[in-house]
Amino acid sequence: MAVEAQRKLPPLREVIAAHGLQASKALGQNFLLDEQLLDRIAAIPGSLSGQPAFEVGPGPGGLTRAILRAGANIVAVERDDRCLPALGELAEAFPGQLRVISGDAMQVDARAEAGEGAHIIANLPYNVGTALLIGWLSAPWTPLPWWSTLTLMFQMEVAERIVAKPGGDHYGRLAVLAQWRSEPRIAMKVHRSAFTPPPKVMSAVVHITPTEAPEGVELKHLERLTAAAFGQRRKMLRQSLKGLPGALDALEVVGIDPQRRAETVSVEEFVAVARVLGGAAQARG
Ligand code: SAM
Repeated sequence: MAVEAQRKLPPLREVIAAHGLQASKALGQNFLLDEQLLDRIAAIPGSLSGQPAFEVGPGPGGLTRAILRAGANIVAVERDDRCLPALGELAEAFPGQLRVISGDAMQVDARAEAGEGAHIIANLPYNVGTALLIGWLSAPWTPLPWWSTLTLMFQMEVAERIVAKPGGDHYGRLAVLAQWRSEPRIAMKVHRSAFTPPPKVMSAVVHITPTEAPEGVELKHLERLTAAAFGQRRKMLRQSLKGLPGALDALEVVGIDPQRRAETVSVEEFVAVARVLGGAAQARG
């Protein structure tokens, strides 16, 4: 059924020409038109047959087609109304598999719209990509988040910050947030020439699988800790954490030398300090 419907679809370049979808820089539009590449991206989360999926920014629908071909049921949010007729045609070609919401993904309740267990897959607009990722990574974990996996295209520099290990300039708050209860990896590097129009920088697809959260740690304590530590990343922890009540004591409890700098502290060490901080805050009432 899906394959037959797909045969009727015109090439993406024709869709763009027919609907006048010249890319808008303000909307972060860099379209992917290579259907083989799109199929490879849609294969990253594993089998999508019959699975719920959530896509941000389908645009002319290239990645959407690939996710539909993989058999998922998609809810997609697009801010550019010019794309709606083309997406309507796609919804007709894959009956019952695609629902498009016209709006801003930052305002949409993805969980309510896409449902529990959805795979989030998107070639994200660069201007809201990191904010959306932080929102998904900050969801309640009970014992896992509402989404199953994240498969997201970012500018390479952002992808490197997500998967960074201690010791380098890329390592910071985003790495800790992405790694303390999930496993991110760069699944595919994508050359700038694959996009229309090509962006200035290279891109990468990051795949994130959630894991059970370490016990006894609340996100808010980890966030306060990493905000303070990386807020002054060149300073020693004894300086950067001075203003955070209980933090220097917590370092001592965990056995972390306060002369170290934030970029040398592993995710596990941050988690251990945040656990002690949380316990101390609770004891203070
Ligand atoms: N998915 C298409 C592809 O891969 O070719 C388009 C990707 S393009 C990088 C980003 C898309 O996100 C554009 O279609 C743009 O209009 C849309 N977009 C930008 N800001 C958005 C927002 N806040 N909410 C929803 N969609 C947005």
